Amino acid sequence: MQSGSAARVRLRGRELINFSSNDYLSLAGDLRLARAAARAARRFGCGAGASPLVSGYSPPVRALERALAEWEGCEAALVFGSGYAANLAVVGSLVGAGDAVFSDALNHASLIDGCRLSRAAIHVYRHNDLDQLADLLRVEGSRARRRLIVSDTVFSMDGDFARLSGLVELADRFGCLLLIDEAHATGVLGERGRGLAESMSPGSWSPRRPFKVGTLSKALGAQGGFVCGSRRSIDWLVNRARPYIFSTALAPPIAAAARAAVAIVQTEPERRNRVLALAERLRRELQAFGGNVGASCCQIVPLIVGGAHEAVALSRRLEEAGFLVPAIRPPSVPEGSARLRISITAGHSESDILHLTTTLRDCKASFV
Ligand SMILES: *Cc1c(COP(=O)(O)O)cnc(C)c1O
Repeated sequence: MQSGSAARVRLRGRELINFSSNDYLSLAGDLRLARAAARAARRFGCGAGASPLVSGYSPPVRALERALAEWEGCEAALVFGSGYAANLAVVGSLVGAGDAVFSDALNHASLIDGCRLSRAAIHVYRHNDLDQLADLLRVEGSRARRRLIVSDTVFSMDGDFARLSGLVELADRFGCLLLIDEAHATGVLGERGRGLAESMSPGSWSPRRPFKVGTLSKALGAQGGFVCGSRRSIDWLVNRARPYIFSTALAPPIAAAARAAVAIVQTEPERRNRVLALAERLRRELQAFGGNVGASCCQIVPLIVGGAHEAVALSRRLEEAGFLVPAIRPPSVPEGSARLRISITAGHSESDILHLTTTLRDCKASFV
C-alpha cells in the first residue's frame, strides 16, 4: 500500500507532493478503511455478483445506507456504483420528455449527461447568474410540465459555491424541483461535514427538494455515489432508475470502507477544519504576490494564469520542482482562463503549502 497519505505520489520514478487528489480528508490510505474492507472481503467476497434488485444487495451496503441517512439527517439513502451513475439516475427519474431542466453552465459532466439522457428540454444559465435563471424560469418554465433546477454546490474548477439560498428561493417561487450535487463538499463543508446545504438548512428535506447527491469517491476515500431523500422518493428511485436497476451493486469491501469513512468524518472534524485552514493559507500566500485565485472559498484553489501554453509550462516547472499540480485548459475552462488547479488534502503540511507558494512566487513573472 502507498504510505497512507494522499499528499505524495510516485510519478516517472520520482516522489512528488500531490496537489491533484480529490482524497481531501486523506482517508483512501487510512488503515481503518483497509481493515473494514478486508473483513468484508473475507466475509462477503470481493464482488457483489449481481444488481441490487436481483441478489447484489449485501449487508455492508445496507449498513452503509443506514449510516449515510443518519449522518445526513434524512429518512433514507441509496448507494450507487459511482457518483456519475447517481446523477444519471436522479435526473432521469425526476424529469423526462415534456419537462424542463435549468442547469448551471459549470455543472459537472454527470449532471449534463443526466439532463441529456432524460430527454427534458435543457436550459443552461450563466454560472451563478440567478437573474438569468429567473428569466429562463419565467419564459421557458411556463411551457414545461415539470421544472427542475440542477446545480453543483462546489464547482470543481473554481472551488466556488452555488448561491444555494437563492436557488431555493427561485425553486419555491416558480414551483420547481431542485437537485444539488455535493460531490466536492461531502465530508469537507458543514458543521458535521454533510456539505454546503448543511450550512444553510440543517437537516431539512422538503418535498420540493426530494434529492441530494454526494460521492463516496472523493473525501470519503472509497468509491461510489449516494442519494439522500425521503423514504418515498428513495423508493421511487429504486423502482425507476435504470443506472440502479441495470448495474451491479457496490462491492461489499468498498461499502464497508465507505461506512468506516462516514464514521470517521463525524468523529474527526479536525480533518476538514485542517483542509479548509490550509486552503485559506494558500490563497493568502498566492494573493500576497498578485496571484489570481478567482472566487475560491474551499479546498479547491485555482491559480488562474490565462493562456493554455503558460499554464502547461508552469505545471511542468512545478513538476521539476517536486509538485504534481495539473494544468486545466479550455474547453474544460473558458478561453483565456487556463489555470493550475491546486487541491488541498488533510495530508498536506503547512510546509508543503509554503514550499509550493515559494516556488510559484519564483515563477510569477510568467503569470502575474
Ligand atoms: C466527481 C464528481 C461526480 C462523480 O462522482 P464519481 O463518484 O467520481 O463518479 C459527480 N458530480 C460532481 C460535481 C463531481 O465532482
